[in-house]
Amino acid sequence: MTTQQGSCHCGRIKFEVDGDIDSGLSCNCSICQRKGSLLWFVPRPALRLSTPESDLATYTFNHHVIQHHFCPTCGIHPFGEGKMPNGEPMAAVNIRCIEGIDLEAVPVKHYDGRAK
Ligand SMILES: [Zn+2]
Repeated sequence: MTTQQGSCHCGRIKFEVDGDIDSGLSCNCSICQRKGSLLWFVPRPALRLSTPESDLATYTFNHHVIQHHFCPTCGIHPFGEGKMPNGEPMAAVNIRCIEGIDLEAVPVKHYDGRAK
């Protein structure tokens, strides 16, 4: 297993996440469409912030079950937090924020979030 480094654009939010990125989820729901994020889901304990948690800004909407975190300085959305279907805490990492990632090499899966 590898450890990935990620950050927002300005560096106010930095994190490490354990695991191998096998694919990115492109979702067409109202927020993912606008953010253009490519999501990779990991158990929440696999993600460690190396900058203060209090530096995260958080947006919620609809059922408020997902916390969409973003950087209040540069506006980039590095990850969100929610729960897996089984209730375990998970993080949805925006792999566009992973350092040095070869995005062309990551298979993209499309998810029809708009229909949910
Ligand atoms: Zn930033």
